[in-house]
Amino acid sequence: MIYASDLDQTLIYSQPAERAELLGERIMVAELIDGKVRSYMSSSTYQRLQALMNELIFIPVTTRTIAQYERIHLISQILKPQYAVTSNGGNMLIGGKVDLEWQDHVRMRVRESSAPVEDIRLVMNAVLDQDWVISSSWCDDLFYSHIVERDRMPVQEITDMSKQLKEMGWRTSVQGRKVYIVPEAVSKGAAVTHLKQLLDGRKVIASGDSLLDQSLLDIADYAIAPGHGELFRQEQLTPSGRYRFTEESGIFAGDDITSFVHSTHSEHRKLLIKEPS
Ligand SMILES: [Mg+2]
Repeated sequence: MIYASDLDQTLIYSQPAERAELLGERIMVAELIDGKVRSYMSSSTYQRLQALMNELIFIPVTTRTIAQYERIHLISQILKPQYAVTSNGGNMLIGGKVDLEWQDHVRMRVRESSAPVEDIRLVMNAVLDQDWVISSSWCDDLFYSHIVERDRMPVQEITDMSKQLKEMGWRTSVQGRKVYIVPEAVSKGAAVTHLKQLLDGRKVIASGDSLLDQSLLDIADYAIAPGHGELFRQEQLTPSGRYRFTEESGIFAGDDITSFVHSTHSEHRKLLIKEPS
């Protein structure tokens, strides 16, 4: 089996310093920037994940750029999975090397299915060029990530803008202080479907918390989302029963998620033993 998971707010989390101190050994440092801790993973999540990696293929699937992914040393250097998807599906690393064929394929698909970035910029700047946007980055030559002051962000304007961008083949996702604007073809689901084919069509278990994870959860055979974040909020507003959510919210949702992966994998293996095919 494959376990493909989003990282931020699904397996790794930032924590205020006081809370991190309070949690002590229940959490582990996952990422440092200039010697300062940027994110943590629950220690039980880490142990479970490490054990799972002996039995299945763990694939981190993140919207982070390649460099930002590599900074998460607990995953990229210590767990060191063979496959990783970054740039929201725009890039994949196999044995630590960028798959250039995939990179070309995604860029071609973007040209076919989304309006050019110049047109997007006009729509975006009409809304975003205001004092609540702290910074904007064009990531891996594929998509935009804006850091915003969430309290001052006009929600209705963002909703209207995202509708307009959707018609142009671009998706908008709001995650905490970040607003992502991403072409339809830069998709976590598409990248994992490609890896699934490469890995003989193994079954996929997936987890993720945001609208950008939806394509991943939707192509998976089994899916779970944490009891917080964009998908959870969406479910509270308009219940669909589409996804399974964890009981826990916050950093320990990772424990529920990895338990679910463990039990799903065990069940699946039992079935395979019963009915060899
Ligand atoms: Mg996330």
